[in-house]
Amino acid sequence: MNIHEYQAKEILKSYGVRIQEGIVVDKLEDATSAAEALKAQTGTGWFVVKAQIHAGGRGKGGGVKLAKNMDEVNERVSQILGMQLITHQTGPEGKKVNKVLISEDVYYPGDSEPKEYYLSILLDRGRACNVIMASTEGGMDIEEVAEHSPEKIIKEWIDPRVGLQDFQARKIAFMLGLSGQALKEMVKFIQSLYKAYVETDSSMFEINPVLKTSDDKILAVDAKVNLDDNALYRHKDLAVLRDISEEDPLEVEASENDLNYVKLDGNVGCMVNGAGLAMATMDIIKLSGGEPANFLDVGGGANAKTVEAGFRIILQDPNVKAILINIFGGIVRCDRVANGVVEAYKNIGEINVPIIVRLQGTNAEEGAAIINNSGLKVFSAVLLKDAAKLVSEVLK
Ligand code: GDP
Ligand code: MN
Repeated sequence: MNIHEYQAKEILKSYGVRIQEGIVVDKLEDATSAAEALKAQTGTGWFVVKAQIHAGGRGKGGGVKLAKNMDEVNERVSQILGMQLITHQTGPEGKKVNKVLISEDVYYPGDSEPKEYYLSILLDRGRACNVIMASTEGGMDIEEVAEHSPEKIIKEWIDPRVGLQDFQARKIAFMLGLSGQALKEMVKFIQSLYKAYVETDSSMFEINPVLKTSDDKILAVDAKVNLDDNALYRHKDLAVLRDISEEDPLEVEASENDLNYVKLDGNVGCMVNGAGLAMATMDIIKLSGGEPANFLDVGGGANAKTVEAGFRIILQDPNVKAILINIFGGIVRCDRVANGVVEAYKNIGEINVPIIVRLQGTNAEEGAAIINNSGLKVFSAVLLKDAAKLVSEVLK
């Protein structure tokens, strides 16, 4: 689960990580009082107004702007709040900005040597442990750094049995070229950050930039936090941070029906039981000349209700020209799935795209007979290669 920058910063702060302070607002009327309160709290006279959306690259897209007085704060807030912000992570349609974070300006006016670093923590699945990544090339796209100068990315792997060791935090700070007070601050920053990462069951922290001010303070200017969905049941206080308006409506509907759905750009919708089979089915769609419109795993216990929910979600995508249902009857019997498909089809009523149903496993033949005798515009196949052939035929 993704959360907003302002929420992420609150979490970090509660773990003792120094942050760029800010106050979030969702109405222009609140901008002045928020800025006044921030001034009283931090002493800042300059502010940065930051769009709160679940996407990075806001700065380049015009979603992060400096304001040097109260009038400018109001001007910036009125510009950014409600705008459709387009960044390289939002897609061409952009994302509507519903909240802005009014922050203290931490790049002191006239500061000759503020320095931006990159710091992230994530799970390295290959090594089955967390990895801390750091770079002196902060503030930029880390993907660019990784491509053009990978030697500038430091990686430190954390043994889960002993956790982050002091020497490791010091090593990272040294390798970033820090010394003296800044080094001490960075060590503490990394340690607090790691503690927060572990205790919140996060799957990713990305702080870009981490700022070193000319008076050697180290602080988080940006914060991207991704919480592990599977652990949210034990973090009720974090689960409420979910902002559904930031999520794809189809994916929200899918999660309400316990379906594993990811929208893609292709023209063939698919509904499959099991993630591995779903991946293989997407390959088959490609091989038969189509492009998958989605990933959809209905799980082990596919029934009429889940099939119907899946249908409805896939059909809302205007790009879908055909639907391939690929179910392996292991625990679930194919004849039950076939009945579910027929029932769902009738419930939905008008379905204008051809549907190919491939049922294999327990009672596959019975399932195929149900589909074939239903009188509906549904094609059935038992072998995957026949299903693929049907897909390419209906696409023609
Ligand atoms: P992102 O573009 O979505 O990654 O948003 P960031 O929070 O990283 O902000 C983008 C850029 O805005 C940063 O890299 C900074 O260069 C700049 N920025 C952020 N906070 C301040 C600030 O307090 N003062 C100034 N002058 N610039 C800032
Ligand atoms: Mn950033």
